[in-house]
Amino acid sequence: MASNTILFVTSEVYPLIKTGGLADVAGSLPAALKAQRQDVRIIMPAYRGAMRKAEKLGFASFRMEGVPETVRLLEGRLPGTSVRLLLVDSPAHFDRPGGPYMDPDGHDWADNAERFALFARAVTAVALNKAELDWQPDIVHCNDWQSGLVPALLAPYPKRLSSVFTVHNLAYHGFFEAAKFQSLKLPSYLWGVDGLEFHGGLSFIKGGLVFADMISTVSPTYAEEIRTPHFGHGLDGLLNHRAERLTGILNGVDYKQWNPAKDPHLKHHYDIHHLAGKARNKQQLQTQFGLPQRTSPPLLGLVGRLVEQKGIDLVLSIIPQLVRHDVQLVILGSGDKRFQAELQQAAKLHPGHIAVHIGFSETLAHRIEGGADMFLMPSRFEPCGLNQIYSLRYGTVPIVRRTGGLADTVVDAHDETIAQKRATGFVFDHAAHDDLWRATQRAISVFRGQPKIWQQLIATGMRQDFSWKQSAKHYLELYQTALEKRGG
Ligand code: ADP
Repeated sequence: MASNTILFVTSEVYPLIKTGGLADVAGSLPAALKAQRQDVRIIMPAYRGAMRKAEKLGFASFRMEGVPETVRLLEGRLPGTSVRLLLVDSPAHFDRPGGPYMDPDGHDWADNAERFALFARAVTAVALNKAELDWQPDIVHCNDWQSGLVPALLAPYPKRLSSVFTVHNLAYHGFFEAAKFQSLKLPSYLWGVDGLEFHGGLSFIKGGLVFADMISTVSPTYAEEIRTPHFGHGLDGLLNHRAERLTGILNGVDYKQWNPAKDPHLKHHYDIHHLAGKARNKQQLQTQFGLPQRTSPPLLGLVGRLVEQKGIDLVLSIIPQLVRHDVQLVILGSGDKRFQAELQQAAKLHPGHIAVHIGFSETLAHRIEGGADMFLMPSRFEPCGLNQIYSLRYGTVPIVRRTGGLADTVVDAHDETIAQKRATGFVFDHAAHDDLWRATQRAISVFRGQPKIWQQLIATGMRQDFSWKQSAKHYLELYQTALEKRGG
């Protein structure tokens, strides 16, 4: 495979800063590309938290053509890897408390358009070798709306390089009022429905979807789904128009971070042949969440953003049945205030069965994977989803809705798939209470009544391999296609 020079553009990367799956991908795909002999550098905003964790930061450049002189480029390495990291350092935009997109109270930063426009201009300067780095990528790989303006700004330079845009979640558009288009001084050719305009406003994600040489998303099923009105968030027409440029590549996972045999967050390690540690982790998890230490109730886990996408309302709807069937449930997440409050209320009502931790905790996320018997992911849509993949490796049988990456990674347990030793979890079709409850009931009944089959599900799941190697090769093919089609 040819060696490319790749600028990987992201608004979050694990372990520097993470709000969701994009950080996990950005933290592991570039290293996997490097292992395929690609010259890859990551570029991201210099958030306060990220600056503190980045290793060996030095000044890379003070001047970038087209970017205010107060913006600096810092260079370091992504911790735990040899991947070079560029940070766009503009303290007025990025050096502040709170999250990358929201203030400490959970409201979007009022200047998000300015922040990510500035970021895009800095990326564009680097991509065009106008940042005093003496380095010219031939692929600029952008991710989600925060880097959506980059392919648009690069569009007038088709011969120099090609752009790839990956959609990690089509629901987030980076949508702003039309007046921002002027105040950001974006080139006038970018306005219009064939450009960044969307229902009279300014859409950052359209920059990627309209102008990138190739578009990808993070699972083959989601790549199909987003071409339909139900999943398209108003962009299905555009995606159908560009269907020949759209593909789905399943996310890989980093088994160095997610390996129950070595996981530093777990008190007790285990593997496919020695599962005793998992039972001990279950006890430890029950204690940590203040649930009674009992072996008989199946323990369900859920980790994720508490938003409608993730089907949290469906989870709330089955809580009375879970309690009646003596099932325990632990939840870790944060998000909509309404869901947070309702979950906390349920935990108060059913202290022997339901426990909730509102917040973000890498350690607790690992401990839930390590200690729970089953993992709930009843998402309304799920571009890829990572937790079900982690769950498989941790012997935590996933219960998922048949959508996006969930459909591509979990094999439903029924007579045929069990006989073929292919089954890895429980899959249901409709985002409705009855469907979720039926799937959960099926899981509970195998857990309680068919221990041999349960062990088989665990073992088959733990043997699945979703490491990056395969997916990285698909990205290399995608880059090749982007180079062939550039500017077309
Ligand atoms: P999304 O990107 O839609 O949030 P994914 O399943 O693709 O969903 O990725 C979510 C990632 O974020 C996983 O690694 C998950 O463990 C992690 N995560 C989500 N919420 C939390 C939380 N509250 N604490 C710790 N990790 C979390």
